[in-house]
Amino acid sequence: MTAPTLPGHPFIAYHDGALRVEGVRLAQLANEFGTPLFVYSKASMLAALAAYQRGFAGRNAQICYAMKANSSLAVLQLFARAGCGFDIVSGGELQRVIAAGGEPARVIFSGVGKTAAEMRQALQAGIGCFNVESEAELEVLSGVATAMGLRAPVSIRVNPNVDPQTHPYISTGLKGNKFGVAHERTLATYQRAAALPGLRVIGIDCHIGSQITQEAPYLDAMERVLDLVEAVEAAGIALEHIDFGGGLGIEYQRTDTPPPADGLWARLLARLDARGFGQRKLMIEPGRSLVGNAGLCVTEVLYLKPGEQKNFCIVDAAMNDLPRPAMYQAFHAIVPVQPRANAPVSPYEVVGPVCESGDWIGHDRDLAVQPGDRLAVLSAGAYCMSMASNYNTRGRAAEVLVDGDRTTLIRRRETIEDQLRCEQPLG
Ligand SMILES: *Cc1c(COP(=O)(O)O)cnc(C)c1O
Repeated sequence: MTAPTLPGHPFIAYHDGALRVEGVRLAQLANEFGTPLFVYSKASMLAALAAYQRGFAGRNAQICYAMKANSSLAVLQLFARAGCGFDIVSGGELQRVIAAGGEPARVIFSGVGKTAAEMRQALQAGIGCFNVESEAELEVLSGVATAMGLRAPVSIRVNPNVDPQTHPYISTGLKGNKFGVAHERTLATYQRAAALPGLRVIGIDCHIGSQITQEAPYLDAMERVLDLVEAVEAAGIALEHIDFGGGLGIEYQRTDTPPPADGLWARLLARLDARGFGQRKLMIEPGRSLVGNAGLCVTEVLYLKPGEQKNFCIVDAAMNDLPRPAMYQAFHAIVPVQPRANAPVSPYEVVGPVCESGDWIGHDRDLAVQPGDRLAVLSAGAYCMSMASNYNTRGRAAEVLVDGDRTTLIRRRETIEDQLRCEQPLG
């Protein structure tokens, strides 16, 4: 059998019949650390970041990694050391940034439901900007800041009402989504913000969705946001920065053909230049596109179970490790760690051990496998470990970072003691 090539994964390839991440064989990692195991390529993350950095060369731009995509400390350290700020959505994420050595001044705080306690924590830390998502939030934030004798730096997240043409659960910039301030309310919201004593208006932002594979929604959103910038500034409210959010997709399968980050930004920057905003401070909040294809999950085949209608391949990773298929009907490529030469393939439903019919990882996959074989679930660097749970009292997987031929265990496998730590049995 010819080994499948791995589109979109420049640092993950077969050599001599064995799948490697950079210089390290996955079979060896599975032997050493067990399965399920998340494996990340450092070079792949830095290459993804470099595409954005090239795109913004010579501009006044700040890249804030949207850390909910993968918030493991070592991953945050890598991006902090490479000069990134962070887009956070909770006080817990802020604590992770600080623990990873990130600069609070380069943190922007998004999300529709910030609590007063989180606002205080973020003001105390000195974060760069609150991306405010409603008029009610403006009032609360102003009150919290005033009580601390501070003025909170704010940007207002506007909802440009464009369709990002992605899965409904990950589109965020349409009317009817819970995110942002409606386009028609933008000017009034800015006027309110400018009048509140505890706020300092510094920017505008939008984020229209995730796994966006086309350019048109970005261009449409940009035109609409720039129209709003002109209207807000015409009303006498100056904006230091414009934040275009994240959302750029990755190649999960060959039919996903997102533009490369540098090419996309060359075209977006041309529009910004044409409209006279090319020298403005720009911010972006990429998540998935920085880490998604840098990671995979190694899992072991436990059982093959032939059925009347379907054959099942039962593996030791499950929806608690890889939640995207159950949550968004998402596709992850699944490839053998050590392909069997000349073995016949059969179609399998690849499923985990969790007691839910929604616990599937891949439908109708052609595989030549036997129990004990390892499979790699690709494109698992984003929204997998950060969404992992303990459902069925399964410990969360271990994570390793590969750098050339070096491997670092960045998260040990969770034990039952870890899981029971917060619980108090009855006396
Ligand atoms: C999730 C999120 C992002 C990142 O989205 P990706 O699709 O992972 O790039 C950026 N900004 C905000 C406000 C988000 O909620």
